[in-house]
Amino acid sequence: MSKVKIMIDPGHGGRDPGAVANGLEEKTLVLTIARRIKQVLVEHYNVDVRMTRDDDRFVTLGQRAKLANDWGADYFLSIHINAGGGSGFESFIYTNTSAKTKSYQKVMHEEITGRLYGKDRGMKKANFAVLRKTNMPAVLTENLFIDNAEDSRSLKDSTVIKAIAQGHVNGLMKLLKLSPKELKEPKSTTKSGSLYRVLIDDEQVGTFQKKSNIVSQVKKQIGKADRIEIELV
Ligand SMILES: [Zn+2]
Repeated sequence: MSKVKIMIDPGHGGRDPGAVANGLEEKTLVLTIARRIKQVLVEHYNVDVRMTRDDDRFVTLGQRAKLANDWGADYFLSIHINAGGGSGFESFIYTNTSAKTKSYQKVMHEEITGRLYGKDRGMKKANFAVLRKTNMPAVLTENLFIDNAEDSRSLKDSTVIKAIAQGHVNGLMKLLKLSPKELKEPKSTTKSGSLYRVLIDDEQVGTFQKKSNIVSQVKKQIGKADRIEIELV
């Protein structure tokens, strides 16, 4: 089965900084968020991820859509920071769009707002070029307001930036029913004498010394357990 293709689109770039305020630039923040999303997706999931830009360059809106269309992306995800008086998070899809796109927006919106401080401004529709010109389901997220004092403080906090990125990852995971890549079988055993207990949903399933035994216990539970812990005894 071919991998799902996700095109991530960090807004603006190069001579177009996007919104600028409080010592922050939209083009830089969205690139950081987009790279983080890509990194987490590629490391943990079996998906193909590309970005419309991966450095500080100007790309037209038409070129962004063309990159996604030519590649045959399955999903398009455009990342922006808001401005203009307000606070919080909102997401956009094209004004006239499919049920598939609506459910894409809903899942993304819920997962991102679920981990974000600040106001939920709602799921919206707009005639944005990247949403209109892309052939696949496309969502554009506006992640906090750069010109709002409180939001801009959040945007300067790397844990908030990571949470924003993780919200996007979780949305995609849920939408695509992605499960983490299989753990690689380790070659060596643990240091002699060290014993680990494995707990599944807070219940001990056993204590193990060999790494392969620990991993096989964990593997069995991935996708089933809510919580898997490995603890040095
Ligand atoms: Zn923007």
